[in-house]
Amino acid sequence: MAAKKPQRDIEWATKLSDGALSCRTLRHQWEITSFDYLEDSEYTGKRNDRRAEIIQRTLICERCSTVRKDFFEKTASKFDRLRSRYDYPKGYKFVTSEHTAEKPTMEDLNLVLYKRYWGEQTVG
Ligand SMILES: [Zn+2]
Repeated sequence: MAAKKPQRDIEWATKLSDGALSCRTLRHQWEITSFDYLEDSEYTGKRNDRRAEIIQRTLICERCSTVRKDFFEKTASKFDRLRSRYDYPKGYKFVTSEHTAEKPTMEDLNLVLYKRYWGEQTVG
């Protein structure tokens, strides 16, 4: 007898936009929109070097519109990334508290993408 599979919210996956479904399976397609120097007051994260300049690189995903902000510490000899922040478009994230079923796996998402490619499932 086959093991019982956990219930997963496949319907949620079938309702993802084409861009979001592609990005969830293929990763984002980033385009740089800006590199900016930040004043100390504009950066609230943890720094390692107070003498360094803080640089923000802003990227946008051409497929799903997720915005990513990378923060760097820049000195004469280094350009270290401190952290990144992501702003996802509505519906992209699987918010566990909004679902009674489990989050679909990568295998589930790839199957949904495959079926959509062949016209078996369309965006609702
Ligand atoms: Zn994306």
